[in-house]
Amino acid sequence: LRIELERLDRLNLIAQMAASISHEVRNPIATVRGFLQLMHQLQPTGQLSAHYELIVGELDRANAMIGNFLSLSKSPAADHRERTGLLEAFNAVMPLLEADALMTGKKVTFEPAAVPPVDMNAREMQQVLINLVRNGLEASPPGGEIRVGLFEDSHAVGFTVRDEGEGMPPDVLERLGIPFFTTKGSGTGLGLSICYEIIRRHGAHIKAESGSGGTTFTVSFPKDA
Ligand code: ADP
Ligand code: MG
Repeated sequence: LRIELERLDRLNLIAQMAASISHEVRNPIATVRGFLQLMHQLQPTGQLSAHYELIVGELDRANAMIGNFLSLSKSPAADHRERTGLLEAFNAVMPLLEADALMTGKKVTFEPAAVPPVDMNAREMQQVLINLVRNGLEASPPGGEIRVGLFEDSHAVGFTVRDEGEGMPPDVLERLGIPFFTTKGSGTGLGLSICYEIIRRHGAHIKAESGSGGTTFTVSFPKDA
């Protein structure tokens, strides 16, 4: 309960901060993106053009992240959900995750399976996947592999993200989802709190299991919903 209160307190704070800074950050990003596009159109073969996609992609990623902050403060009624396949939603972001993994000499594999669609906001659930996989990559040694799987059982439909990384001790495990909780020198401690909040609002569940052999996150959507 103490941890749940701490989580809610910090979420409130973030929601206030997000609302007040979002314009100050989003507007400059939009301006920079616009000028980049213009420059690219004027000089499509210049020296920097090779990096154009990357730069724009990163700006879009930053923008999406701000969107996620804002979604922490959004009322559940305001967000858009529809019956969507996890398979399709995740297939769309796999190239991004594979590129992330490749950059650090690691691997992400998706084990697709036919599971029934769930009621979700696909963009938000993609963000959950991205945040979980990135943590898995950060916890993994060079050559490490993150496996994303889909499942269906009699009660639920969902997905798992497994890594064979360093794992977590119990005192870390119990703090997951508290905004700003991080054990990393340069971590923000926001990735999981965003995941937990998105999942809570979907009426879904998230569970973390961790040991010396690595960590598994399981997200499940109850079937009775
Ligand atoms: P950040 O990644 O910025 O530290 P997160 O909210 O994503 O913030 O994660 C919070 C903390 O949870 C991490 O600092 C780390 O200690 C722990 N953690 C999350 N995922 C994993 C994982 N897959 N393996 C080991 N530790 C993890
Ligand atoms: Mg993280």
